[in-house]
Amino acid sequence: MASGRTHGTVTLALTIPTGFAIYSIGGAEAGLAAATGCLVGLFIDPDLDISNRTRSEARVLRMFPALGWLWMVLWWPYAKAIPHRHPLSHWPIIGTAGRLLYLSVILFLALMGLEVAFGIGAQILEALLTVPYEIWASFAFGLAVSDVGHWLFDQF
Ligand SMILES: [Zn+2]
Repeated sequence: MASGRTHGTVTLALTIPTGFAIYSIGGAEAGLAAATGCLVGLFIDPDLDISNRTRSEARVLRMFPALGWLWMVLWWPYAKAIPHRHPLSHWPIIGTAGRLLYLSVILFLALMGLEVAFGIGAQILEALLTVPYEIWASFAFGLAVSDVGHWLFDQF
């Protein structure tokens, strides 16, 4: 089983090739979205199923101190609900889809709160929905590539 540092290195190594692969198929915006999705794997990784502070959570704390604790609180229910290395968090595709679904629900609830409090949640949601499907799909693909790298290196 690889360390958090190794997983981070694998994700970084996969970012540029993933971006170029999708760029060659779907163009610059899709390639950039795929590379970004892969890079986001440094922060949204399968090990968020661990209750203690993970390397990815420590990364968020270090890079975005104000948001780091909120990020850890946000993933606490996920860590409590899913045992470490469970198929729901670690299997390719399933784990990625589960984390994206989890974040989508939280984002939707946050936007509802923003709508009720400040009347801006619906505007933000509309802006997000104007992003073409191919860009979201490329982003998700990049994140899935990072997660596959994580899964492969967890086997050793
Ligand atoms: Zn893992």
